[in-house]
Amino acid sequence: MNIKRDDLVVVISGNHSGRTPAKVLKIEIGGRKVELQGIGSVLKHVKRGHPKSPQGGRVQIPTLIAVDKLALYCAKCGRGCRVAVKVLDGVKRRICVRCQSSF
Ligand SMILES: [Zn+2]
Repeated sequence: MNIKRDDLVVVISGNHSGRTPAKVLKIEIGGRKVELQGIGSVLKHVKRGHPKSPQGGRVQIPTLIAVDKLALYCAKCGRGCRVAVKVLDGVKRRICVRCQSSF
């Protein structure tokens, strides 16, 4: 997987697909799914005593999106990009295949 926390990504398929980049907040389920800032949330009805809502009610819960549906956002190209890995100055860097800028 080539997506890390705090990366900017775009969703390329599914209900949440679009062109606006979103930040990766959290990576879950063994790196298979991620939580994105501002994309995908559901209202869940919870009983009293739930840690997020002690008196019960509706709680906004972020949905997780599979990493397979994401592409790293390249600021130079202004869209999602495919990524190659190259060693630059002894450090592995991710590189946009289209414009060769590194992340
Ligand atoms: Zn690029």
